[in-house]
Amino acid sequence: KLPNATAKAELGRASWKLLHTMAARFPEEPTSNQREAFAAWLHLFSRLYPCGECAAEFQQLLRQHPPQTSSRGAASLYLCHLHNLVNARLGKDEYDCGTNLRDVYDCGCGDEEERERE
Ligand code: FAD
Repeated sequence: KLPNATAKAELGRASWKLLHTMAARFPEEPTSNQREAFAAWLHLFSRLYPCGECAAEFQQLLRQHPPQTSSRGAASLYLCHLHNLVNARLGKDEYDCGTNLRDVYDCGCGDEEERERE
């Protein structure tokens, strides 16, 4: 089968949406366990991402820019910067990370996310 740029872009948009939404709901004051989980998730995600070229580039980015997990704000900004590095490589516009990422990336779960998580 030939490469399909439309499918690749769609997968990218869906993936970024999930990544940014997870960061937007990451705890304000994460436990060390939650911090480890977020960093581990990003590393595993980068290994298993279905587009091989994207996965390799993303793994390299993660090595150069280790995940920042000290708070929700840190994680959200970190992912925004990481996405901007991918945007730059692909010749896309830089996104303004000063916007309220929590409102942009609304999980639709109301206040439920505030409950205690495992
Ligand atoms: P996307 O970049 O998908 O962004 C979706 C939406 O998110 C934008 O419309 C905007 O509203 C918002 N957004 C944009 N920038 C930011 C930001 N910095 N922070 C928060 N929100 C933002 N494609 C390739 O061709 N080659 C690759 O090597 C490649 N690597 C990728 C690696 C990863 C980890 C991922 C998730 C995707 C990768 N992609 C790659 C796909 C690529 O990044 C785009 O998803 C795809 O090209 C579609 O682009 P888009 O212009 O629709 O917007």
